[in-house]
Amino acid sequence: MNDQIDWSNLSFGYMPTDYNVRCSYSDGKWGDIEVSDSPYFNIHIAATGLHYGQEIFEGLKAFRGKDGKIRIFRLRDNAARLRDSAKGLMMAQLPEEKFVEMVKKVVKLNERFVPPYGTGASLYIRPIEFGTSAQVGVKPGKEYEFIVFVSPVGPYFKTGFKPSNICIMRQYDRVAPRGTGRWKVGGNYAASLEAGERAHELGYSAVLYLDPKEKLYLDECGPANFFAIKDGKYITPASESILPSITNKSFMQLARDMGLEVEQRHITVDELETIEEAAACGTAAVASPVGEIDDLDTGKKYIISKDGNPGPVTTELYNRLRGIQYGEIEDPYGWCTIVE
Ligand SMILES: *Cc1c(COP(=O)(O)O)cnc(C)c1O
Repeated sequence: MNDQIDWSNLSFGYMPTDYNVRCSYSDGKWGDIEVSDSPYFNIHIAATGLHYGQEIFEGLKAFRGKDGKIRIFRLRDNAARLRDSAKGLMMAQLPEEKFVEMVKKVVKLNERFVPPYGTGASLYIRPIEFGTSAQVGVKPGKEYEFIVFVSPVGPYFKTGFKPSNICIMRQYDRVAPRGTGRWKVGGNYAASLEAGERAHELGYSAVLYLDPKEKLYLDECGPANFFAIKDGKYITPASESILPSITNKSFMQLARDMGLEVEQRHITVDELETIEEAAACGTAAVASPVGEIDDLDTGKKYIISKDGNPGPVTTELYNRLRGIQYGEIEDPYGWCTIVE
């Protein structure tokens, strides 16, 4: 354990750790796993990852459980999603087994950075893959680098599990209707920065994007999925431009276990009138409850949380998921991988 770190006051940011792990793809195959103690990478100035945006990533977490064991949450789902993203950008697909081995290895090597149980902190794991071939012609590269680094992180919102307000701004889209939204692509984030900064300046935690084609249905909530609770149902948008969140998928299962019906369908802006609870969800924050949704184009304000607290269903979903991640409650679906 690292006693230099104030575990209970960590921010959600980068902190140097001891090691990262790497694997290169060339001549049509992935090489051996390398361990590095350097946070730098030497890259060719004509690499496809730099000028044509061949870059994808993942985000997952490891938790120190109540029993002292380290659990990685839904590792294989992230491995599979990285492969989907790679396919989408015509990049080399890393075998799932290699992903699993490398993530376990980097966590084990940085074991002293896994925050103690009870601090609310965790070890954030960031796998990235990018094109390294020197090319100028526009075509998929032949060489790739896959790197996994980690950083201990605190809760995403310092203020805790409390509702925040979000806004709708129709002049911005995160992705194109049949574009790269369904893959975890760095470029999608670059495309969302201006809208995100604008929303922050106006005092909102995120932008609630509408579908980029018709601007009628709810899409993603900043870099997170969106769900709502209404009439005993868990409702989340169905859209080709949404990144399939593993947190959202987990909540859908937990909602069913709680006796809720799950609907993945279009949600119109008008329907916000009738929802009882809403939240954004993703690995970083798990669930961030929504207080109010302001439509900046129509001036309409949808008050979701009337008393300023998260709703009961969102709270129960949040507690169940955290309980599984910290080994406090049973893991009936085998979502956690224990690092031996
Ligand atoms: C990573 C990400 C999410 C959340 O996915 P999780 O698997 O739950 O962490 C949601 N939306 C976007 C755009 C993302 O990149």
